Amino acid sequence: MLEKLIGCDVTLIVGKNQEAIQAHSYVLSSRSAKFADILAAEKQLERKLAVIPDVKLDTFKLLLRYLYTDDIELSVDRATALIPVTSTYGPTTLKTSCFSFLLSAMNADNVCVTLEHAHTYCERSVYDRCMQFIFVNAVDVLKSPKFEELCRECVEDIVKSDDLNAKEFLIFEALTLWASRKCSQKRLQPTDVNKRKALGKLIFHIRFATMDVLEFTQKISHSEILNREEKISLFQFFHGETHTLPSQFNKRNRHEYVVNQDLITRALGKGKTKEYLPDILPQSGFPVIPYTHTENYEAYHPITRVIRFQGVEKNCQMGGPDAIGFRVSMPIILRGVQMFGPSTGQDSYHVDVVVYDCHEDVVRHEKKTIISGKSIQVYNIILSSPVQVPAGRTFTVQLTIRGKPTYRGINGLDFVVKDGVSFQFFKSDRSWNGTDTTIGQIPTILFSKMGN
Ligand SMILES: [Zn+2]
Repeated sequence: MLEKLIGCDVTLIVGKNQEAIQAHSYVLSSRSAKFADILAAEKQLERKLAVIPDVKLDTFKLLLRYLYTDDIELSVDRATALIPVTSTYGPTTLKTSCFSFLLSAMNADNVCVTLEHAHTYCERSVYDRCMQFIFVNAVDVLKSPKFEELCRECVEDIVKSDDLNAKEFLIFEALTLWASRKCSQKRLQPTDVNKRKALGKLIFHIRFATMDVLEFTQKISHSEILNREEKISLFQFFHGETHTLPSQFNKRNRHEYVVNQDLITRALGKGKTKEYLPDILPQSGFPVIPYTHTENYEAYHPITRVIRFQGVEKNCQMGGPDAIGFRVSMPIILRGVQMFGPSTGQDSYHVDVVVYDCHEDVVRHEKKTIISGKSIQVYNIILSSPVQVPAGRTFTVQLTIRGKPTYRGINGLDFVVKDGVSFQFFKSDRSWNGTDTTIGQIPTILFSKMGN
């Protein structure tokens, strides 16, 4: 109908070049309150005219197509461009789809753009997800050119956090580049003094006091971003004169992360025993019952682990099944999960693994025996027959574990991106033993990408 231009009664004048597009007022008005308002103002006229000056023609055509067909093919660029347009012209469903798409495609290069959109259009949960991603992946995000484009408020939320997983010098460098850009926007020379002015109070979120004195001396003391008095009081602080440091300087250490390959664990804090998930399970002698696949299945389908906890603590009592729901951004092959082993001593566990699909139907039910080692905390539970999981459907893995109390994960993430696949985790009604997105068993999903 749109393409054939039958019965059009509205002319839309779109973009800087004022290109004319024909459309139907009843479609526009019924799908978008904003269009309904615009067109209501033109009620008396037989042929209505609406000027849409602030939208690029290509983006507007995508919106229009969605209004007529409910169909949209998104990319990061398209979703990014559509969010401001749908925020003005609606519909909310499209805005939600765009944000969901950006979350599913989140990486260190695009997360800042999504964060800024979430900030501008007040999408709190998207904002929090982006922040969580930024904290964990801080090293890459702070080096991304898009970091420089963030607004002051977003930058402050990032750098003030104890959870930011980066060295102070890297944060200093990122803020310096951000300040240079602010200077050039104001047509100021990017001198140290001007950069300091641009930074304002942001400078005090850099934890200079926690830096190594040598690194501070070599890398920071020569710049004029800190003034002379500030540098002197920091040097005095490093040499024991702690009371002379102005109170604006934050002396607190950020949370410590231990990064082992893709495994990020966080120290539990002072006074508690530091327990970390082990790096990776032993190569051989691993106590999982054998499983077989035809031909060279293993070679063609390497297993990837997606870990949903940032820490671990002792004592998860066995009082019923543990389950977690998850949804993926692209089809995967579910190969199994990992479970935590005994928090003291050794034990053997009888484990029922059940996988439910999005219709709550059982798609796998396998029984495993796990014999724990002395020091290993997590154990692979590999499905003898893997399960294909389509994108965007919530599947649930449930473990019923019989044996001694185990470790359990803490500081869970409800959203993790691994090898380009986003995992969103959900609390499951089938979980009766305390496992949910923040805490509990099933620390890891084991999967292969389709077509690998
Ligand atoms: Zn912002």
